[in-house]
Amino acid sequence: MSKVAIVKCADYDPDSVYASVSKSLELLGGLDKYIKPGMRVLLKCNLLMKKRPEEAATTHPEVAAALARAVREAGAHPIIADSPGGLYTTSALKGVYKACGMEEVSNRDGIELNYNVETLEVNHPEGRLVKHLTVIRLLEEVDAVISVCKLKTHSLALFTGAVKNLFGVIPGTAKAEYHLRMKRIEDFSDMLVDISTYVKPVLSVMDAVVGMEGEGPSAGTPRKIGAILASPSPYALDVVAASMVGIDTGRVWTIQKAKERGLCSDKLADVVLLGDSFDDLYIKDFRIPRHKEKNPIERYVSGNSRIARLVRSRFGPRPVFIHHACIGCRDCQRNCPPRAIEMVDNKPYVDLDKCIRCYCCQELCPKKAIVIKQNWLFRVFR
Ligand code: SF4
Ligand code: SF4
Repeated sequence: MSKVAIVKCADYDPDSVYASVSKSLELLGGLDKYIKPGMRVLLKCNLLMKKRPEEAATTHPEVAAALARAVREAGAHPIIADSPGGLYTTSALKGVYKACGMEEVSNRDGIELNYNVETLEVNHPEGRLVKHLTVIRLLEEVDAVISVCKLKTHSLALFTGAVKNLFGVIPGTAKAEYHLRMKRIEDFSDMLVDISTYVKPVLSVMDAVVGMEGEGPSAGTPRKIGAILASPSPYALDVVAASMVGIDTGRVWTIQKAKERGLCSDKLADVVLLGDSFDDLYIKDFRIPRHKEKNPIERYVSGNSRIARLVRSRFGPRPVFIHHACIGCRDCQRNCPPRAIEMVDNKPYVDLDKCIRCYCCQELCPKKAIVIKQNWLFRVFR
């Protein structure tokens, strides 16, 4: 049975975070069980976009710093990295590191930040949906990866944690190709499990001190949870984290696809919980994205038949642009996989026949100017 360590952590005070991270590693047998002296260790943080740490859209810098300190104490060399949405360039990385507070902890503690923006093609013969991947070069140059993820809701995947975080090894705009190839959330999630089985993180450590509820992964609201979670299994970690905020693991496709492959169970009872009480941290009113709230007719339109697809495209959720909040930056247009967005008078308009409902536009909008709206018919049924 997989083990998941749960350690309370009240806030982002550097000493408290370090104590909680250290305790979680100790509960799992110590970091030296997973990495060896001299190793180069990639700390794969969630650095989705330029967001301040208090917005809770990205891994908090103090969690990355605490882990970097632990890696150094184990005699290894930590490198903070991610490929955020948008272009994968040195200047884009610099802007994200600065906004997310990583530059500050890097300067303070001398932690290396990755600026290598080369990419390369790799084979993944065991992959179920993807047997070739384009990845950031650093991934191939390190000895171990730790997924340093954030607990958040997600407009497409419902929940994002340790597994979804690894999508960030796919460089910048190359992510769009994966959305286009795997349009259904079931397939997209299966592909995320392929990526996870390729990356094989030695550990996953989750920043659940303050997570994001509501319209995640970027337009939601920060919500205090008060914990650091850690596990050698990214799948078991996601099962515990989703359960902790009351999200039904049966609705999280990455968990279901991992379960299909025998990588985990979707039941909390099948995980060995170590450390602090799960019940003490359980949140029963954590808000999920509005369009993901249970809908009585959802199960009739979740398949891949022509009718199901037609009903989804006509009556399913869709992105709606709030023009008065939009600053015309075009990030949504640049990152729309099927190029379904047109700018007219510097405001975005979507062609819903082309739209694949990936919600990348909402995820990457810096002004929360895109909302996902459920069709009135779905609302009536609900
Ligand atoms: S909707 Fe958001 S991402 Fe798109 S142009 Fe406006 S501000 Fe930029
Ligand atoms: S308009 Fe938004 S939801 Fe639709 S395909 Fe483009 S990025 Fe995805």
